[in-house]
Amino acid sequence: MFNDGIYKCIACGKCFSVTISNAGYPGGKERESINCPWCGAENGSEVTSGIITTRKVITGNGDNQ
Ligand SMILES: [Zn+2]
Repeated sequence: MFNDGIYKCIACGKCFSVTISNAGYPGGKERESINCPWCGAENGSEVTSGIITTRKVITGNGDNQ
């Protein structure tokens, strides 16, 4: 199972996507920080046994990566 979400950084206001992928370890849930890939600010956390991956999201008329 995984969850996908778009976050807006509380520090820099840029958007990023958060994907939580199951690492395959049963149990052992831990609180993982969600860090902005743009500026590194912490944007909350999730309790998960998976791996949190953040990706920059370009919105509007900005450059595409
Ligand atoms: Zn940020």
